[in-house]
Amino acid sequence: MSALLHDLALTELNGVGKALQEKLQRLGIEDLQGLLFHLPLRYEDRTQISALGSLNLGSRAVVEGEVVGSQIMLGKRRSLLVRIRDATGMLGLRFFHFSAAMQKQLETGNRVRCYGEARSGATGLEMYHPEFKAFNQDFAAPDLAPRLTPVYPITEGFQQQRLRQLVQQALGFLANNPVEELLPLDVQQTLQQAEGFPRLIDALYYLHQPPANADLVLLESGLHPAQRRLALEELLAQQLGMLALRQQSRSQGACPLLPYQVADDISIEERFLANLPFTPTNAQQRVCAEVFHDLQLPHPMLRLVQGDVGSGKTLVAAQACLRAITAGYQAALMAPTELLAEQHFQNLTAWFAPLGLKVGWLTGRMKGKTRETLLASLAVGDIHLLIGTHALFQEGVNFHRLALVVIDEQHRFGVHQRLALRDKGVQGQFLPHQLVMTATPIPRTLAMSAYADLDISIIDELPPGRQPVTTLVLPDARRNEVIERVRHACLDGRQAYWVCTLIDESEALACQAAEVTAKALREALPELKIGLVHGRLKPAEKAAVMNAFKENAYQLLVATTVIEVGVDVPNASLMIIDNAERLGLAQLHQLRGRVGRGSTASFCVLVYHPPLSAQGRERLQVMRETNDGFLIAQKDLDIRGPGELLGTRQTGEIALRIADLKRDADLLIGLRPIAQRLLEQAPEQAQRLLTRWRGDQVRFAQV
Ligand code: ADP
Ligand code: MG
Repeated sequence: MSALLHDLALTELNGVGKALQEKLQRLGIEDLQGLLFHLPLRYEDRTQISALGSLNLGSRAVVEGEVVGSQIMLGKRRSLLVRIRDATGMLGLRFFHFSAAMQKQLETGNRVRCYGEARSGATGLEMYHPEFKAFNQDFAAPDLAPRLTPVYPITEGFQQQRLRQLVQQALGFLANNPVEELLPLDVQQTLQQAEGFPRLIDALYYLHQPPANADLVLLESGLHPAQRRLALEELLAQQLGMLALRQQSRSQGACPLLPYQVADDISIEERFLANLPFTPTNAQQRVCAEVFHDLQLPHPMLRLVQGDVGSGKTLVAAQACLRAITAGYQAALMAPTELLAEQHFQNLTAWFAPLGLKVGWLTGRMKGKTRETLLASLAVGDIHLLIGTHALFQEGVNFHRLALVVIDEQHRFGVHQRLALRDKGVQGQFLPHQLVMTATPIPRTLAMSAYADLDISIIDELPPGRQPVTTLVLPDARRNEVIERVRHACLDGRQAYWVCTLIDESEALACQAAEVTAKALREALPELKIGLVHGRLKPAEKAAVMNAFKENAYQLLVATTVIEVGVDVPNASLMIIDNAERLGLAQLHQLRGRVGRGSTASFCVLVYHPPLSAQGRERLQVMRETNDGFLIAQKDLDIRGPGELLGTRQTGEIALRIADLKRDADLLIGLRPIAQRLLEQAPEQAQRLLTRWRGDQVRFAQV
């Protein structure tokens, strides 16, 4: 049997030596299979001649005409201007670089056929530097392309034409050196029937040389069945990659955390629940049970808890920590900001201290004696739960028996950071269990990709008595009305937030803006006590202001977006967000989640500065229409696309070559079980599929 395509080196191609091979490798192309999986970005239609009169601005087309004039234009830049004509109109061809030979070819009276883009030039529509072939009675007219012409993604110093030739050569190998069909047979058949998906080999032929009558609009939208066939395979490879990660984690050991049983005594966990001022919701109980189930296994838990703002994720985290502690181990809880970590520290201390448990607190700024003492008691196991920021995983932080890591607001950390944290926690041969909580819901399709290495639990219920927040959108010309609203609410005994947003990423400017706003509001509302909190305050100062607000010593809190996460003051029922158009949906939803936590009807006023961009208008509209975080997340995905939604840090991890998480979301649904089955029944095939799309970095344990 002859070799498969992926066994053939690039140097099998005529004209490919070391140098060209290296250039191709820079495009991520390693072998002949890789070359054929390097798909065109778009296509040019060089199969027919367009009439000059039919050209519009921006048209890319083949045209043909008789040269009716050719002259060198002097001006800002010297150029050769050639005028051609057909039965329907005229066109200018402009060359800024030209030779005497070119001038000769483009002499008046010759015919010329060229391909280029029509732009607006000094003489009307012009093509700048079109590709051209001139001919006259002595030479035959050049052939038109029989098929659409592919345009490939290339790097500097590479020519389209060169790549096209190489791809053509590689296509020639397909007959004898087949490209392996790696989709499970039944999946192939189903998709062929349901969606008209071609076989892999036919998809590749088609996409590298579509017939002249191919549907260009469909191809450019990426929705052609040949493209979807490949996108599906890529998404499957991505799921396999995530499964490989899962498998690696799960092949390692963890300490099983079992409920602590003592005869005739109520357990710490029972006392904890009895002390709570509320009853956990059904959703909290269900998710908690899912977590407990994972924790008692001898493999590390990797679970993501999703829940809307205010759904009570902290309780689930606390119960998981308690389980680790009563089983005789330590737990760690990491939050992305100091403010949030501090909030967790306060809440969990209030819950755990009465049970005789010790909660520690560590930030990056903590230095000297305090830090030493803390680390010493951590290392001997006197501290049961350590709460903090990234600092938890710095060098020198050594746990005695760490068995559980809880990460709050996960969407700010990428998969790799998550793995780094886990490795930091390695305890001999055991890995800690991991519980990850998101601040904002993630659309299902994204969660399936970016978090496919995690099991997912969803808290789909808010604690009882929550008031839906009514959201208003007002232009800043009506700021005075807004101030009056604040005055009334506060004189009525309620509290309010006034959030100042960033103009750019500069924290200094944001703090300054907050200071200015606070000053103005203190003047406008002299009867109110107004606090100010921003990122440049020292942690102790910040905490003091927040506490004063919590105790109603301030009625109005002016803040930067530092209050975005975690702040919990049920009496606050009004939130003003200034220049709300500057914030993204997730951030707006997070902020709004700070109100509506008490028993009174709550309001959120989004003040914007006109004019609004189309996206800005859409965002504010979404906020006005719904309070549902999952719906908002889906809208966010629709508006911004997956790349931006996940942030640049994470897109690299789910970088896709052909598939698009938004466009091809429907393909993703249902792929997870297929990936699982493929891995179980044909692990080597799974590995080849993974390698085809993701290179050699990711490997399955058992292959
Ligand atoms: P999030 O999911 O946004 O992290 P939190 O855990 O901060 O939400 O909880 C929000 C608020 O709801 C807190 O004040 C918390 O004490 C309260 N809470 C949590 N669970 C319940 C419940 N079952 N019943 C009533 N209040 C609850
Ligand atoms: Mg929270």
